[in-house]
Amino acid sequence: MRHGATEEEIQQVAATIEEMGYEARVMPGRQRTTVGVVGNDGRVDPSRLAGLAGVQECIPVTKPYKQVSREWRPQPTIVSFPGGLTIGGEDVVVMAGPCSVESAGQILDAANAVRDAGATMLRGGAFKPRSSPYSFQGLGAKGLELLARAREETGLLIVTEAMDADGLEAVAEVADLVQIGARNMQNYSLLKRAGRCRKPVLLKRGLAATIQELLLSAEYILAEGNPNVILCERGVRTFDSATRNLFDVAAIAVVHGLSHLPIVADPSHGTGHRDMVLPMARAAVAAGADGLLVEVHPRPEQALSDGAQSLYPAQFAQMMRDVRLIAEAIGRRVAEPAGLPE
Ligand code: PEP
Ligand code: MN
Repeated sequence: MRHGATEEEIQQVAATIEEMGYEARVMPGRQRTTVGVVGNDGRVDPSRLAGLAGVQECIPVTKPYKQVSREWRPQPTIVSFPGGLTIGGEDVVVMAGPCSVESAGQILDAANAVRDAGATMLRGGAFKPRSSPYSFQGLGAKGLELLARAREETGLLIVTEAMDADGLEAVAEVADLVQIGARNMQNYSLLKRAGRCRKPVLLKRGLAATIQELLLSAEYILAEGNPNVILCERGVRTFDSATRNLFDVAAIAVVHGLSHLPIVADPSHGTGHRDMVLPMARAAVAAGADGLLVEVHPRPEQALSDGAQSLYPAQFAQMMRDVRLIAEAIGRRVAEPAGLPE
């Protein structure tokens, strides 16, 4: 309460708290009175109290999320995939491939290149959220087909984006890991639908989302019954145009402290420039990332999207060598591809 709040104002706050179904504890102090809210499950909306006469501020002492928190589940979540690959345990999983699926030749060349270098998952958007409606929008259903074919030929698992709730089922049929993009991090109908799908979900941090907002979005998916959520740090918007986004390496450590969910890093969208991807990939693994999501194109200069941040296959091979060393230095290892399918 404000310094000098009247007894009447304090009683009104206490009465409102009781009316909301909680217990109010009035604690008079030398400078000001504090009114505690007791018996809540961490999800009190403070806006009703904040507007009452005499209230100085509402300070939440419990987190607004529950199932995603470390308090709820102290041991790390380990997400398992067909073939035995896991994310969230000792292994560091590398997902790599082009920004978009462009053609049969392009996605197969990319898949073979990243597999030869040691990636275990193939990325590639079939449905693309583009800032401009005039930019390449992706191949859609055809792109999903090409990804399924690339999986058959290389044994790589597939991570690809679902853009809307109606399109999620079709994506989930093909994808081993369903990606929800930065622009959709707070698309709550999509999150709820993802919570009801049977595939693991890769949830990317929004362009201007706090870590708490990222965790609350993940909570939507868990609350609907899907515990297999992997978070992704991909940089946030800031004042400096030297990089496309500000790659928040610290978010990896913050998330590991607050949540049991795995977090992977996307140094491609995090920087926007291919020369910065290798150093940030190293940094992310050193910081404890459970995996990397990296854009690699067989011919980046011809890419229909994000060519400037796409690695050449040789650069990707170098990145793999470096991150293997770093993973080992911190007691982890980069997941290796299984044998080629018969
Ligand atoms: C992507 O991974 O292709 C993508 C569109 O990323 P983001 O949603 O992080 O912008
Ligand atoms: Mn991209």
